[in-house]
Amino acid sequence: MRTTDQVPAGTRAEEWTDDALWAELERRVETGDDWRLERGPVTQKSVTPMRSFVHEPMRHGRLFLAGGAAHIVPPTGAKGLNLAVGDVVTFARALVHQRETGSADLLDAYSATCLARVWQAERFSFDMTTLLHRAPDATPFDTRLDRIAGSRAAETDLAEAYTGFRLG
Ligand SMILES: Cc1cc2nc3c(=O)[nH]c(=O)nc-3n(C[C@H](O)[C@H](O)[C@H](O)COP(=O)(O)OP(=O)(O)OC[C@H]3O[C@@H](n4cnc5c(N)ncnc54)[C@H](O)[C@@H]3O)c2cc1C
Repeated sequence: MRTTDQVPAGTRAEEWTDDALWAELERRVETGDDWRLERGPVTQKSVTPMRSFVHEPMRHGRLFLAGGAAHIVPPTGAKGLNLAVGDVVTFARALVHQRETGSADLLDAYSATCLARVWQAERFSFDMTTLLHRAPDATPFDTRLDRIAGSRAAETDLAEAYTGFRLG
């Protein structure tokens, strides 16, 4: 199988031989000189669904949700693990705060604090999916990059979102 940039929805990983996967990866990262990727054994293959999901609030009584249990982002923004770590840091701070002061304020704010970042990352990841993939019904208008390429403010917005949102 050969593709120019993406595979259709519904593609099964088994349709891609290891050789075809390596060849596609080589094609995508080729540098134009004699540098080559070193091939190795492929230990796992899967097609990642582009999903967005948020469980709001991220708390039920004494149960606190964190990471992928609470929110899924498509991998296009590279935000999933960062969000998960952010949740855990926020939760750990809240536990320490309660132990040291006796106040449950930060635990009570946990869900809202995390969700402020989560929704930003969800939006960013969704936008990146739209930017990096072409829907079957996309028009030439959908693939234009004038807004990002032509505005310093838009570039800054993209860079800020890519490098991460502040922990609350
Ligand atoms: C292809 C791909 C690329 C990605 N790239 C990036 C990236 O570049 N940057 C980034 O930040 N994030 C990235 N992510 C997302 C990131 O991997 C996840 O967001 C992150 O692993 C979530 O961590 P987690 O601990 O919340 O959940 P998970 O890592 O999913 O851990 C959950 C664990 O719970 C276990 N489990 C499930 N059910 C049960 C059960 N009933 N009992 C016991 N154990 C159970 C699972 O086996 C698993 O080990 C990517 C994800 C994918 C799929």
